[in-house]
Amino acid sequence: MNFFQELDLQENKLILIVDDSVENIRILSNILKGQAQIIFATTGHDGLALARERHPQVILMDVDMPDMNGYEVCRKLTLDPETQNSAVIFITAHSEMSSEVEALESGGVDFITKPLNPPVVRARVQTHLTLQQQSAVLLRLANRDSLTGLYNRRFFDQQLEKEFERHGRQGLPLGLAFIDIDNFKAYNDGYGHVEGDKCLRTVAQAIDAASRRPGEIVARYGGEEFVTILPYTSPENMQKYGEWICVRIRELGLPHRYSTTGSNVTISVGVTSMIPGESKTIAQLLSNADQAVYKAKSAGRDCAKMVI
Ligand code: GH3
Ligand code: MG
Ligand code: MG
Repeated sequence: MNFFQELDLQENKLILIVDDSVENIRILSNILKGQAQIIFATTGHDGLALARERHPQVILMDVDMPDMNGYEVCRKLTLDPETQNSAVIFITAHSEMSSEVEALESGGVDFITKPLNPPVVRARVQTHLTLQQQSAVLLRLANRDSLTGLYNRRFFDQQLEKEFERHGRQGLPLGLAFIDIDNFKAYNDGYGHVEGDKCLRTVAQAIDAASRRPGEIVARYGGEEFVTILPYTSPENMQKYGEWICVRIRELGLPHRYSTTGSNVTISVGVTSMIPGESKTIAQLLSNADQAVYKAKSAGRDCAKMVI
């Protein structure tokens, strides 16, 4: 899914109602009709599962439920990275201060007391739907490179740290590839900056499209440099990935009259793989990949080299 498709998805507003009373669900659904798509669960347990699966922007949560009370469900939602971005609004018959405090302490953003006043319910829910949409767009913008739509350096740094730690715990190899467009200064000088930008976008999309296994992340590292994180990938498979990406870009057939390497746009790829451990650092992993690109450039460009 590309950046703009993801932004479009933000238009799909979804509300989850968690309430053990079907009658309450019916009343709330009627009040909220037309504001968003509505899904529901009648137990806390089902509510958690549905929230994980569908990522609703807003969850309307009953407090008194037999299997798990609403506060408990909310605490669980808050702890799970898959669900912690949903805004939980409690629907409660308790109007005492202590239950308001508990609602907020468990991770809720708001609470509405019964009896329900429909315009108030609609307005409160709308406020949180709007806030959710805005923060989702901002989060995406913060993590993306505006020219190519790929993840940016900031997101890459965060993700690499997480993956390094995770692979270390599991004792499994983490792969990294640095990808640098060949003779790109000459491309800009020859065809102009606007064409240069177009070329960057095309190459970025091709790298992204060729790196779609679960967990693979492609980011723009800087100027005409890209980077791919490949979970659970051995040195041998990193080498294969590097060669495959080179072929993919060469075969795009983008003319590059000013290249010293050939007549099309090409890339040089540096690959590495490491099982993170006590004597291994992220800095080493990055440095290996960097040296590997340098090797590929020295070897004549349009090729993949490995340093481990
Ligand atoms: P090499 O084959 O050794 O990688 O040579 P190169 O010319 O690709 O490398 P160099 O680092 O000398 O030049 C990179 C060029 O990339 C310089 C700059 O003009 C261009 N560049 C960097 N960012 C952008 C961008 O956002 N848009 C455009 N159009 N060009 C960019
Ligand atoms: Mg460069
Ligand atoms: Mg370059």
